[in-house]
Amino acid sequence: MLQLDVAKLKRSPGESVSFELMSDMPPIEMAGEKISFDGPVKAILNATNTGQAIVVEGTASGLLQFSCCRCLEPFSYSFEVPLAEIYTTAVEETEEEEVIPFSGDILDVTSEVLKSLILALPMKAVCHEECQGLCPGCGQNLNQGKCECAGTEVDPRLSALRDILKGMNE
Ligand SMILES: [Zn+2]
Ligand SMILES: [Zn+2]
Repeated sequence: MLQLDVAKLKRSPGESVSFELMSDMPPIEMAGEKISFDGPVKAILNATNTGQAIVVEGTASGLLQFSCCRCLEPFSYSFEVPLAEIYTTAVEETEEEEVIPFSGDILDVTSEVLKSLILALPMKAVCHEECQGLCPGCGQNLNQGKCECAGTEVDPRLSALRDILKGMNE
């Protein structure tokens, strides 16, 4: 959990405190898939007491265990997402939707960090820009070397014909 101890800050309007937090996080769920973190999430945040609220700004970064959309191999996806939230202890309902209520001396930013992260995640990610992916013909991981059918672009009609010819030769 990413939590800021704002006990002192709460009582000091106009003051600003910086925080550096590290925390392990449970896997996140995206499109029905569980994605695990590869190591702790680090947050570098600045909290300011504006008199009415506590404004928290900064970034959260870390690694996620992704699967490459081209070659399907697992790899570490590094992320850095922004965080900018307004927290208030004011009891009355506020008109502003962006203001997040909190009570006590601990300000938990975990769910806001996760929301920001999920918004920033790509639907598809590649292990590296030059990833060759899998051969559509035989499924060979082309990063690990060329396959038997390398170099030929397989037209589905041609490949059906080839299968028939292959069957006749066997
Ligand atoms: Zn790849
Ligand atoms: Zn192939």
